[in-house]
Amino acid sequence: MKTRLHLFLLLLFSSSLIIAQQPKKPTASDIHESIKKLNFLGSVLYVAAHPDDENTRLISYMSNEVKARTAYLSLTRGDGGQNLIGPEIRELLGVIRTQELLAARRTDGGEQLFTRANDFGYSKHPDETLAIWNKEQVLNDVVLAIRKFKPDVIINRFNHRTPGTTHGHHTSSAMLSIEAFDLVGDKNAYSNQLSTVDTWQPKRLFFNTGWWFYGSRENFEKADKSDLIQVDTGVYFPSNGLSNPEIAALSRSQHKSQGFGSTGRRGSQIEYIELIKGDLPTDKSNVFEGIDTSWNRIEGGKAIGEILYEVQNNFDFKNPSASIPQLARAYNAIQGLKDTHWKTLKTKEIKDIIAACAGLYLEVTANTNHTTAGATVNLNLEVINRSNANITLLNITDPNGLMIDKNLKLDNNTGFDFKETLEISDSQIVSTPYWLTKKGSLGMYMVEDKNLIGKPETPRALNVTFNLNIENVAIPFTKPIVYKTNDPVKGEVYKPFEIIPEASAKISEKVIILDTDKQRDIEVIVQAGRDNLEGFVQIAHPNNWSVYPEKQKVNITNKGQEQRLVFTVIPPKEQSEGLLTPMVHIGDKTYTKELIEIDYDHIPFQTVLLPSESKIVRLDIQKRGENIGYIEGAGDVVPESLRQIGYNVAILKPEDITQDNLKRFDAIVVGIRAYNTIEALNFKQQILFDYVAQGGNMVVQYNTRHRVKVDQIAPFDLKLSRDRVTDENADVKLLATDHEVLNFPNKITSKDFDGWTQERGLYFPNEWSSEFTPILSMSDNGETQKTGSLLVAAHGKGHYVYTGLSFFREFPAGVSGAYRLFANMLSLGKNNINTDKKFND
Ligand SMILES: [Zn+2]
Repeated sequence: MKTRLHLFLLLLFSSSLIIAQQPKKPTASDIHESIKKLNFLGSVLYVAAHPDDENTRLISYMSNEVKARTAYLSLTRGDGGQNLIGPEIRELLGVIRTQELLAARRTDGGEQLFTRANDFGYSKHPDETLAIWNKEQVLNDVVLAIRKFKPDVIINRFNHRTPGTTHGHHTSSAMLSIEAFDLVGDKNAYSNQLSTVDTWQPKRLFFNTGWWFYGSRENFEKADKSDLIQVDTGVYFPSNGLSNPEIAALSRSQHKSQGFGSTGRRGSQIEYIELIKGDLPTDKSNVFEGIDTSWNRIEGGKAIGEILYEVQNNFDFKNPSASIPQLARAYNAIQGLKDTHWKTLKTKEIKDIIAACAGLYLEVTANTNHTTAGATVNLNLEVINRSNANITLLNITDPNGLMIDKNLKLDNNTGFDFKETLEISDSQIVSTPYWLTKKGSLGMYMVEDKNLIGKPETPRALNVTFNLNIENVAIPFTKPIVYKTNDPVKGEVYKPFEIIPEASAKISEKVIILDTDKQRDIEVIVQAGRDNLEGFVQIAHPNNWSVYPEKQKVNITNKGQEQRLVFTVIPPKEQSEGLLTPMVHIGDKTYTKELIEIDYDHIPFQTVLLPSESKIVRLDIQKRGENIGYIEGAGDVVPESLRQIGYNVAILKPEDITQDNLKRFDAIVVGIRAYNTIEALNFKQQILFDYVAQGGNMVVQYNTRHRVKVDQIAPFDLKLSRDRVTDENADVKLLATDHEVLNFPNKITSKDFDGWTQERGLYFPNEWSSEFTPILSMSDNGETQKTGSLLVAAHGKGHYVYTGLSFFREFPAGVSGAYRLFANMLSLGKNNINTDKKFND
């Protein structure tokens, strides 16, 4: 019963999160806070490198307490991180983390910006980061973000003066922000941008410092902080019953894929901000000192301010609609502003406030969450005014022009529903994250449409505009078409309305490893984006491979249905690798993309189109032994990869590790970070070491140096360090050329280290007892050689191997050499047993 109750609570909890995707339904208090924000004309830009780097306490404080327009510029979308909530990695993880940032900003009231820089993985130094990013392009994008957003104040999360002490992306974000600060006001810098934006000069640039920058809390306490700006971010908001840190925690908790669930605090909490550029404010709590943040700031603003300050002061919490006539007048005056930047911003804000004051509900829903170009879709339009304000619906327009021409008076609380159809243009482009439509480089996304650079997501393509007359002022309200349904458990569920291709396809396995030249069947899954799909499928493949049949018919009756087709792949005799791509031919069109849907409760439903590719590898590999016991750690796909090359892999729980049980295994492999995560292994180490001594083979993959939960990782002394080699192309020297692990049953050469991905390895030991033989040596540029990546020790009749090499990354990428070397590790000590009939040397 307990688990049931738990599940029920979980569902309840998750259903409350769906609200993030529903239209905002502001309370009277919310409206009043928005009016205060409307009357503050100042802005802050927070700069860092990754989703989750941002200090949500400070962002929420600036947005909700100071009322400043506040944005977070994350240089990357976090593709290189890990995913704790699902299988998505790389670009798909970047899509999730982009949406998590947007969910965080919906919570803390900020806005979200990006550059084209890609989170390619760990780098130790900004020199390395900026060599892989296109530095000029990223700097261009930072300059562009500042010129567009026009912040008065920039706050860096990271310190530009300490390269090498944190992730290279972090230091780079601070360095680029500072460089941009000096360029944004210069007409000659990135002058090609000036056709769409003006130059701009922020007044100050700060570094959001903290005790960690001083080495310890004690040092920080002792330090002279008289020149630091200090703001108390622990304020309490009676309007919503939350403290600022509680809002910040709710925001931070949106980074669910990173496991950043966070609990809010109450009470005073000081943030320290160090001035880097500009003049130091005399009031050490006000970053805006000397900046006019009132309506007087802009030409023609004074008259608007006179109306709106009165609206703010006389706001009637029992009847917000009483403010509408004045708000409509202010809206009109804002339309006359010469300054287009402020005109655009304040128009959007005041429209939302007017709609909220009137309880105006405008929504356009489609009868499906996706359709194809050229299709016709049924729409429902809901229009209701819930106030005594004088409001008329003039007309409604869709992408094809006038849709409804009504001139309808909207009486208080009398709703209208219109059923209409929309013909989608034949040339309507498909919905997908804009930064993934063209193949980029390791360090950069490729974005062809320059207008999209910096935007958090692809703008909604299909919108409907409701043209209203409110208190004799014409005001248009544009709404994206959405899909809405009722889920029996979750209740009202919203999804974006998307355009998908009429056909998409994928091969069910992303990496196919063949360890012999025997043929293999593969499955192609074709998905229909519309009804009555007819055509055929072929598979593009490398020349020296064959696939048959050459083509197969596709015939799918209903939209959304799949058809599964089996093809046979015949590998060449020699080692070879390449890509397989299913091509679906429908009429004169060919579709080569895969449709991926991402569905989590804390972010909107995501539809992503990616090139449909599977890597196929014919391995030249020999193996000894076949039964592997795998002790899982933090989670990796090594067991599936070993199965792909023909091993029987059994997963061992700590309680399965007994002397008797281990006897049947040719080798025991320990998963990544097992000794950091599985406490119970401390009681199993001696059994494992005894197994080795009696002739077994034990391979341990990387663990971090801290929080090791076992007394002894190896039967001999071994000290873990932070040594890592992040350059996946770093030269690998074979130290112990005669050692069995480099010669049997596969002869390992430097070629086996070609094509590795993301890194060579991490957390290598840097001290070990004489029983260990270091096998390889490697280093990142400019560093000393690291020899601890692969250590082998004989123990009794068996072998113990410790390796920080990143097999867990290389296997899913189908890297041949990684498989060959791992097979040798598993075959240690089996050189003299030449009786295995399955292998013919
Ligand atoms: Zn980071």
